[in-house]
Amino acid sequence: MATTKGNCFLCGKTLGKTAIKNHIVKEHSAGDEPCWLVKAEGVYDRNMWLLFSVSKDASLLAVDKFLRQIWCECCGHMSAFSLGGNEFGKARKLTEFAIGNSLLYEYDFGSTTEIALTFVDEIKRPKQKEKVRLVARNEPPVQTCDKCDSPAAQIDAWEQVFLCDNCVKDVEDEAALLPLVNSPRRGECGYTGEQDKWTFDPSKIKK
Ligand SMILES: [Zn+2]
Ligand SMILES: [Zn+2]
Ligand SMILES: [Zn+2]
Repeated sequence: MATTKGNCFLCGKTLGKTAIKNHIVKEHSAGDEPCWLVKAEGVYDRNMWLLFSVSKDASLLAVDKFLRQIWCECCGHMSAFSLGGNEFGKARKLTEFAIGNSLLYEYDFGSTTEIALTFVDEIKRPKQKEKVRLVARNEPPVQTCDKCDSPAAQIDAWEQVFLCDNCVKDVEDEAALLPLVNSPRRGECGYTGEQDKWTFDPSKIKK
């Protein structure tokens, strides 16, 4: 499967993962605040990806908060950042990293979600209150039902199968069902994506 395309949240363009990174560096780097442009990808599903800017003055704590909200949070599990097996404290300042650095982010040490973070470039943005700003995100991948060929809408988390709204009626225990959300954590623990407020909406783009 080809990797999913994504949307630029700043101008609405739809591009591939690498093209959109180049697009952001070229078209959306202006303002007073120096930031990292960071790429996040699901380690086991690279079709799940984000690009976000984060103030260089911030610490890993701000990145943790953002990743929990958009992709991870279900029941307040532990999380950690590491590089080559060495863990970083969340107070670690982002000024200590460099372009090309890659970190592993892990959320929940039971049914773990692993996310690869890469500091891809430096950009500027207008000053804002939030430390992190989402700039691009993959389009929700189209998934077909494992029982028939209709578009899937839910996951049977126990069987780890995708199901459409019709085939879910055959599932005996409804507690197994989780929504098919746009996150590498879908289908894990009780993850429903309820804190994810970043659905792409072209009508909300300020031109
Ligand atoms: Zn754009
Ligand atoms: Zn959980
Ligand atoms: Zn079906």
